[in-house]
Amino acid sequence: MMGVNRSIDSLQGPLAAALGRFLKFCGEEGFPVVIIETDRSQVVQNAYYAQGREPLDVVNGLRGAAGLYLLKERENTVVTNARVSNHTGGGAVDLCPEIPGKPGYPWWNAPEEVWVKMGALAEECGLDWCAGGYGQTWGKGWDNPHFELMKEA
Ligand SMILES: [Zn+2]
Repeated sequence: MMGVNRSIDSLQGPLAAALGRFLKFCGEEGFPVVIIETDRSQVVQNAYYAQGREPLDVVNGLRGAAGLYLLKERENTVVTNARVSNHTGGGAVDLCPEIPGKPGYPWWNAPEEVWVKMGALAEECGLDWCAGGYGQTWGKGWDNPHFELMKEA
């Protein structure tokens, strides 16, 4: 699979099941969300890791080979601290609230309360919001889209 993968079926079974429960719950709550990325190849992760660490031509060489769109100079900033991601192998999913009235459009700058509501709905469905944890993308703040399967207590 090249480029950004958004397929639920490529996630590990228990995580796919939790995500299915979450999407159903969001539908019932009238709280639309966008799946940003599910399983991620190491080729894509390598391109993400190079971003902000290598010159733009090197980064875009990796991105092109990985099936990703090419960046502009101002976009060449660090987006991950992980050489190896839990996405690889289908162990993580990135989720974002949807812009009201714009199906499929991620609401990246949604207010904190919207992100917090999404995180609360997800955790009720067995997804662990890693916003305060791994910080693999988008820093460690409340606007981090990264979720994994909640560990057994
Ligand atoms: Zn992630």
